[in-house]
Amino acid sequence: MKPLVLGGKVKAVEIDNDVHNHQVLRLIDASVEQPSGPNDAVLVKEGRLKLWVPPSAAVFVGERPEGTPAPLAITLGEEFSYLGPGDILGVHLDTGKVRTLYRRSSRHNGFLLTERCNHYCVMCSQPPKNVNDGWLLDEIARVIPLIDFETSYLGFTGGEPLLEWQRVVELLRLTRDMLPNTAVHLLTNGRGFVNAEVTDAWASIQHPNLSVGIPIYSAVDAIHDYVVQALGAFDETVLGILRLKELGQRVEVRVVLHAVTAPRIVETAQWLARNLPFVDHVALMGLENTGFAIANDRLLWIDPLDFQEELALAVDILDVARVPVSVYNLPFCVLDQKVWPFARQSISDWKNTYLPQCAGCAAKTNCAGFFSTGRPKQSRAIEPLHTF
Ligand code: SF4
Repeated sequence: MKPLVLGGKVKAVEIDNDVHNHQVLRLIDASVEQPSGPNDAVLVKEGRLKLWVPPSAAVFVGERPEGTPAPLAITLGEEFSYLGPGDILGVHLDTGKVRTLYRRSSRHNGFLLTERCNHYCVMCSQPPKNVNDGWLLDEIARVIPLIDFETSYLGFTGGEPLLEWQRVVELLRLTRDMLPNTAVHLLTNGRGFVNAEVTDAWASIQHPNLSVGIPIYSAVDAIHDYVVQALGAFDETVLGILRLKELGQRVEVRVVLHAVTAPRIVETAQWLARNLPFVDHVALMGLENTGFAIANDRLLWIDPLDFQEELALAVDILDVARVPVSVYNLPFCVLDQKVWPFARQSISDWKNTYLPQCAGCAAKTNCAGFFSTGRPKQSRAIEPLHTF
């Protein structure tokens, strides 16, 4: 299975008058809702557009029927047929580039804040680019007020978001005000928090449900620095976490498991349990084989079956130390049964898939399954379970 198509080119754009080149459009179902603002676009998936008053924008999926009025009419291919009311698109009219920015039916909505980064991790799934992409933050600031009030979760990621920490803090304030019931999780390498000004600004947001995910790949500073390809990163990251916890902020530590980190996971868990037992969550995560992980395959690949004993021990060490711990991105049939209670369905819905042999598996409804992105690699342990 391929990942859901979240970006591409429009099939056609028709513009009757001057409209802004960069559109952010919330899709509405005209049979139950009338356009209420300049960002509302009627979604037409089949049939004709039936409105007494022509909308300012309409988005057609498939073909655009003749004679359907709208000053801005965008036609998308069938690969966007999953779109529904409440979803939000970003469209650049000059290039025809379109991206699905938010899906109301998804529990895994995430926003890329920047592609720039001050790390160069050997397994990076989103290889950094040195580009001027401040417009991404402008776009997200336009999207946040359009998001469904009942959305339970939003993720923010990069690149390294804290390279633009003032603007990111402002964005989080906006999210707090517009979506007070929405849990927000931001992924960062955490080094920015070594600066007390950044940590103070973060704490001053006073968001009721904000957490930050920060990677620590090893208890050995040189190994962490090697994985992220940045000298001194370990010391700054740990100091940043200490500053955040001193201010009562929610922190998740993330450890991605590959051939450099997985054989040392017991040592890493012991170090976390002894030195950072007050973090709010530790996620031990299977590798997404995409981006730099493909280029560094010979360095990174290890069959997860080959570190199950160590993983079970690491989970036990953290659990006994009362550090909430989860295992992400690894299927049940690979995991030691002792780890099953800690395994989560963690892969975002748009890139989550299962294998043909999963069809008859007793664990499928709870299993993390696989990434459909990049060049998926499979453990030799994949086998349907008869009981679960
Ligand atoms: S066979 Fe498939 S569904 Fe079953 S545990 Fe393995 S990966 Fe998960």
